[in-house]
Amino acid sequence: MNDAFYSFLIPSYNESDNILLIHQALTDELEKLHCSYEILFVDDGSKDDTFIKIHQLATEHDEVKYVSFTRNFGKEAALLAGLRHARGDAVIMMDADLQHPTYLIGDLIEGYEEGFNQVVAKRNRDGDSRIRSFLSKMYYKWIDQVTDVKLKDGEGDFRLLSRKAVEAVLELSEGNRFSKGLFSWIGFEKKIIYYRNHIRGNGDSKWSYRKLINYGIEGIVSFNQKPLRICLYGGLIIMFLALLYIFLMFVQIIRTGIEVPGYFSIISSVLFLGGVQLVSLGIIGEYVGRIYAETKRRPHYLIRDTNMDRDL
Ligand code: UDP
Ligand code: MG
Repeated sequence: MNDAFYSFLIPSYNESDNILLIHQALTDELEKLHCSYEILFVDDGSKDDTFIKIHQLATEHDEVKYVSFTRNFGKEAALLAGLRHARGDAVIMMDADLQHPTYLIGDLIEGYEEGFNQVVAKRNRDGDSRIRSFLSKMYYKWIDQVTDVKLKDGEGDFRLLSRKAVEAVLELSEGNRFSKGLFSWIGFEKKIIYYRNHIRGNGDSKWSYRKLINYGIEGIVSFNQKPLRICLYGGLIIMFLALLYIFLMFVQIIRTGIEVPGYFSIISSVLFLGGVQLVSLGIIGEYVGRIYAETKRRPHYLIRDTNMDRDL
């Protein structure tokens, strides 16, 4: 192994049963790899004993660092805080729930040593519920078409970023952060390592369907203006068709006089156009809402306690 210094970044929200396990698993694996490292836990405002466990570990082990939030700010904020504080030549992000197998770390590091700035561990969807994996697949297929950034199914947050890539991600200052998109947006040559999905260690997934849907919308709108353009094109096409219809009707009325029926066509066009308008307004609203959020320039998180001196 070379003498690079690695930061392991672990966002943790209500993971009290997993903290000791992931720490153990990591140290066991890293012992084999003989590299120097720090383990940085970001406690995302956990309501259970997560922080107590992390704090305990930090007093026993010098390489354990922590940043603790004042409340739950979400995984994206935790990742951002971690990236800002990490001091490593490369940062490896992992979930606390042991879903990201530690035996892959060697491969990630190897990719880094080969000169890749991003090394991604890509999972299949074993163990996810059928509906969820089906919906995810559809989502990624679709998002591929409607957005400008390439997002890949199964390429999650288990990845290594070189210092260069970390700095690039930190340059992106937006408030609504969608990491998957950001990691894709920064580019850099990327190596992919495949693995089989693991069932979660302890506790429940923090994602409800509602959260997933919101995350999905975030992914689409935070990355481009294409949805707005779709509205525009859709509107133009419908307007053209409507004009055509009016013209034809007009010609017919001139030739044969007014007929009473027409109720159906009026109602259907009113309903249809109303729907199109609402959808367009909704999409515009999404963007306006984001602009509003960005203009407030609120910090992404607030730190309650940390044992790192790096101040940002
Ligand atoms: N997490 C977090 N803040 C949150 C939700 C989740 O820091 O608000 C962490 C969580 O502790 C875990 C990782 O993000 O380490 C992934 O969460 P989870 O396992 O619930 O997501 P899934 O694996 O189901 O995508
Ligand atoms: Mg998980």
